[in-house]
Amino acid sequence: MNAPLSFPVQVPDAATVARMAPELDDDERESLRARAKRLLKERDAVLVAHYYTHPDLQILADETGGHVADSLDMARFSHEHSASTVVVCGVRFMGETAKILNPEKRVLVPEMQATCSLDLGCPAAAFSDLCDEYPDRTVVVYANTSAAVKARADWMVTSTIALDIIGHLKDRGEKILWAPDRFLGDYIQRKTGADMLMWQGSCIVHEAFKADALERLLAREPGAAVLVHPESPPAVIALAHVVGSTSALIKAVQELPNDTFIIATDRGIFHKMHEMAPHKKLLEAPTAGEGATCESCAHCP
Ligand code: SF4
Repeated sequence: MNAPLSFPVQVPDAATVARMAPELDDDERESLRARAKRLLKERDAVLVAHYYTHPDLQILADETGGHVADSLDMARFSHEHSASTVVVCGVRFMGETAKILNPEKRVLVPEMQATCSLDLGCPAAAFSDLCDEYPDRTVVVYANTSAAVKARADWMVTSTIALDIIGHLKDRGEKILWAPDRFLGDYIQRKTGADMLMWQGSCIVHEAFKADALERLLAREPGAAVLVHPESPPAVIALAHVVGSTSALIKAVQELPNDTFIIATDRGIFHKMHEMAPHKKLLEAPTAGEGATCESCAHCP
């Protein structure tokens, strides 16, 4: 396997992070919710929200006939829904993905500053130059990329299908150029043994999880199952009972017999997990800082 390449990765500045919305009181929340419901109806619009968004948005999506899901399922739902306008509560690339699948519909992204460190860290021009340098490699990109990067790729995968697709390409004797997440790429490489040249992007939420602190927490909670998103560092993935996409982790909470779960992904997912398995105890996996929530993007999913 080739050594990983090194690229400068752009990260959001403090001003972007500072744009986090303040919490609402009950009256403000109720008034905004009523207004949003009225406008969605009047404008023939449907709201789709990522599992990582604020619970208020997830509740609003559910109450108005919209959908709460991972990024691919958000785009699929909006494609199948009859509304002429789709409101995507997610980061920018999720809005772009919805537009790719719904070119005839109006797609609105309420917060254009909601970006993703994986998307920001993989500029289309630099990525295209790299593809030109390695014409013998099949270009596979993760869903968390801009539409321009996706347009340069041979394949686009989600975390749910990444292992199967890359395993299939390896069986066909193809060498891979992978972008942008180096941790997810590393996980896929170890699982499939494929020859993968890696772009060096990372998710600022998942890379913050700490394996040593997770081990200590697991020692205090020996019956817990550890659920980890594959964008996390290898040492954290090594402690996981389940590694999977957001949808797979929600399913694991519902289906595994454990009473307690330690979860290494954005804390926004807890809303849906509590809803699906209200009697289970959910703990956040320890991080290096304040916790795991996607501040790359002001109102980040
Ligand atoms: S959680 Fe990570 S991968 Fe997901 S949108 Fe935020 S920065 Fe991107």
